[in-house]
Amino acid sequence: MADSTRPTTPAGVSGPGAPGNDGPGDQALDEVVTFTSELIRIDTTNHGGGDCREQPAAEYAAERLTGAGLEPVLLERTPGRTNVVARIAGTDPSADALLVHGHLDVVPAHPDDWAVHPFSGEIRDGMVWGRGAIDMKNMDAMILSVVRDWARRGVRPRRDVVVAFTADEEASAVDGSGFLARHHPELFEGCTEAIGESGAFTFHAGPDLALYPVGAGERGTGWLKLTADGRAGHGSKVNRENAVSRLAAAVARIGEYRWPVRLTPTVRAALTETAALYGIDIDPDDPDFDADAILAKLGHAGALIEPVIRNSANPTILQAGYKVNVIPGTATAHVDGRFVPGGEEEFTATMDQLTGPDVDWEFQHRMIALEAPVDSPTYARMAEALKRFDPDAHVVPYCMSGGTDAKQFARLGITGYGFSPLQLPIGFDYQALFHGVDERVPVTALHFGVRVLDHFLRHA
Ligand SMILES: [Zn+2]
Repeated sequence: MADSTRPTTPAGVSGPGAPGNDGPGDQALDEVVTFTSELIRIDTTNHGGGDCREQPAAEYAAERLTGAGLEPVLLERTPGRTNVVARIAGTDPSADALLVHGHLDVVPAHPDDWAVHPFSGEIRDGMVWGRGAIDMKNMDAMILSVVRDWARRGVRPRRDVVVAFTADEEASAVDGSGFLARHHPELFEGCTEAIGESGAFTFHAGPDLALYPVGAGERGTGWLKLTADGRAGHGSKVNRENAVSRLAAAVARIGEYRWPVRLTPTVRAALTETAALYGIDIDPDDPDFDADAILAKLGHAGALIEPVIRNSANPTILQAGYKVNVIPGTATAHVDGRFVPGGEEEFTATMDQLTGPDVDWEFQHRMIALEAPVDSPTYARMAEALKRFDPDAHVVPYCMSGGTDAKQFARLGITGYGFSPLQLPIGFDYQALFHGVDERVPVTALHFGVRVLDHFLRHA
């Protein structure tokens, strides 16, 4: 990429004495730790059903943006459910703007289960502890630290950078990114790409193999309700129209169904590039290509890719009947379906087939799948920024099995990447800490994140 051959004064840096070449100052490294800890102390638990209050965290972020000379806007669809958006003008007015987003809410945590109080933000053993340390007040703090560092050093990015701190990501996003995308598109004018949750963390595939999966896709979500109607009657009589039997048969077919492998460009690249690190040359176009067999050879690293090579549908709830000798007229089930980018039509057609003529089904919740190009200049710059600060990094693309705020911003035509950089030690189980007990983040990981984010955003 052109970045590696650039002169020492990057084009994205302006101001007297070309500041910015040295990376973030010590104050930024101190602030990212303080901000992570203080944001954790502001309890923004999202219980679902509208039960959450992000306002104090939003005001905290807005004050720090104002301190950096920016003019943040606070926006609410519902009182207390506050979002914050600010724009930093770039040096190249012809360049597309870049959105950087992080959510302010967190999932619930029960103090009894934790080694430290989940809302203490305690710094212990070189880690910041608490709910949100990974998901994702760490990234919120990194964004704040970087833009404040820029203000102190007179740095401006090349592209306009729009920063957004959102409410309600851990529930429906209707008070957060969904509201911003639908009702305030003007704040995101010119944004073509975004970086946000997940991705760019160290995934130790082996003792000498540090992967950094960068998010370049998300599966779509289809939560379904199945309804079987039949003939109600006495449990002692012959009944060929039993709703429970009909529903059970459909649920069993769905649960047992082996979805065919559907490699999207991101997953294909993930598979090819990861296999190459193991010295395995693959050809996904070969008619005999067996993705599952390759994944088995990739061991631990295969776990990053395995959930996203095909659609999935898991029955999760069954409801029918009220008395053993009464055949109910109706039986219902719920299914958690996920489809790969481009896989929604096949998902729908397959559900029609699997449910059969006696069972109806409908989407109760449906969210699009996303795919971002892995051959874009922006992807290359993310990879370059990671390798600059971890020369042993192997950057690979990654498709998320679930979803983030990126789905909402996609309504505005914004291509979303998962890029929340963290350098993590061997044995640190990042993915288990998402919504997990004793969520924590190493101080060194936050420092790495600030350096990478600063470098990437200045050169993006
Ligand atoms: Zn999150």
